[in-house]
Amino acid sequence: MRTRITHALLLAQSITTAVTTQARDNTYDYIVVGGGVSGLVVANRLTEDKNVSVLVIERGYFDDKPEAIVPYYANSLDLDVLISPTSAPNPQLNNDTFSVAVPAVVGGGSVVNGMGYLRGSKEDYDAWEALGNPGWGWDGLLPYFRKSTTFTPPTSDAVRDFQYPDIATIWDAFRSQDDVPVRAGGNAGDGPGAYWLPSTIDGRGMTRSTARKAYYDPVNTTRPNLHLLTGHTAREILFTGSAPSPTANGVRIVSRANNSTRQVYARKEVILAAGAIQTPQLLQASGIGPSSVLKAAGIRVKKDLPAVGANLQDHATTILIFSLTNQSFPNPDTITTNTTYFAAIWAEYLANLTGPISAAPASSAILFGLPHLNSSAAASVTSTKLLSQSSTLTYLPSNAPSSPNLFLSPAVPSPSTPLTPLDYQ
Ligand SMILES: Cc1cc2nc3c(=O)[nH]c(=O)nc-3n(C[C@H](O)[C@H](O)[C@H](O)COP(=O)(O)OP(=O)(O)OC[C@H]3O[C@@H](n4cnc5c(N)ncnc54)[C@H](O)[C@@H]3O)c2cc1C
Repeated sequence: MRTRITHALLLAQSITTAVTTQARDNTYDYIVVGGGVSGLVVANRLTEDKNVSVLVIERGYFDDKPEAIVPYYANSLDLDVLISPTSAPNPQLNNDTFSVAVPAVVGGGSVVNGMGYLRGSKEDYDAWEALGNPGWGWDGLLPYFRKSTTFTPPTSDAVRDFQYPDIATIWDAFRSQDDVPVRAGGNAGDGPGAYWLPSTIDGRGMTRSTARKAYYDPVNTTRPNLHLLTGHTAREILFTGSAPSPTANGVRIVSRANNSTRQVYARKEVILAAGAIQTPQLLQASGIGPSSVLKAAGIRVKKDLPAVGANLQDHATTILIFSLTNQSFPNPDTITTNTTYFAAIWAEYLANLTGPISAAPASSAILFGLPHLNSSAAASVTSTKLLSQSSTLTYLPSNAPSSPNLFLSPAVPSPSTPLTPLDYQ
């Protein structure tokens, strides 16, 4: 049943994708490494000027599987379009290693992520600005958050039909935590609390909204100045000049199809958008990074930059599993246990674009501050340790140790300002 239905869905998508296997030219104005979220946005904006040429180098390919399109699959973690490197042992966590989810697909993380749209805390962005980046604080970024999103408020029917009945019990549990503020929405910069979680869905067809669908597909046939090269990995940034001021002017790329290598050049800039894991990796492989690390790896140092590859802060995942015996009908498990229900909701999605298949599985979230997981005193100790564990403390904002909201939630729930659709636009 599922195969037949999803096949029909894909036919209805009318996907027009020019698969590119060769860079047309050797030299472009800009080369963008990484056709993920940030890379495709930057490439789209730059090529609004038809006199500017841009090459995007993406190691992944186009993915048109249902998992990349249908909101229901948001939490399915499609391993086909991920590489999963193993982390180095973490001394703070009993030297455990972890599998790290790194996307390799046109659209990057937006093709595989959980589709939760949640802005960070105001304090986090203001800390960026405090680092010496004017305009990168909350007030400076909010207009761009609005520009990059279109808020489609759910209809009352949708709220009734999309939410499983037990969500009311879950929200009762959220509200019973009197030190967890209930926020009006997750996008006002409030920080920790309980939220309704908007999803990154394209409301026109109730499909996953990806960087590819929003920033590449609409322009790929009309902008000859934009060229996306799939299935190619950037191995090394090329430079002119030498230390202390090498200037990037090209990239050495390798084809995944046949391992052939070539070099492409940028008249203006090489822009790195290869993600949080691969951008520093590429810099280090190109001789930009901590000299001790580069020398140990046998890489010629072009610029000693200790912060490259340091200070990564990932969000931890802990899965709690409960056995529930008194769930209402339907509930999220019904999809996998009841074939009649499964067929009915797929039919509903294909006919009306409504129902559980049209929604990402997570509609609510709690972001905890450290005091929710531990006492306030213990949380202070933990945050002090977090700040002091890194030898690269100098790269944190100078106000970080005195900015408790980076680590702590407000002791008393603060009233939230109700959001209007404008906050999402
Ligand atoms: C499993 C998962 C779940 C997530 N859930 C959410 C969520 O619910 N909500 C949310 O807001 N965020 C979520 N995220 C995070 C979000 O997807 C990322 O923050 C976002 O994609 C980062 O954008 P980026 O442009 O920096 O990198 P990416 O989108 O990862 O793009 C980087 C691109 O560069 C390419 N690339 C890397 N190295 C090279 C190279 N050497 N040569 C050529 N190409 C290269 C990659 O293939 C990739 O396409 C999730 C991420 C993952 C992995």
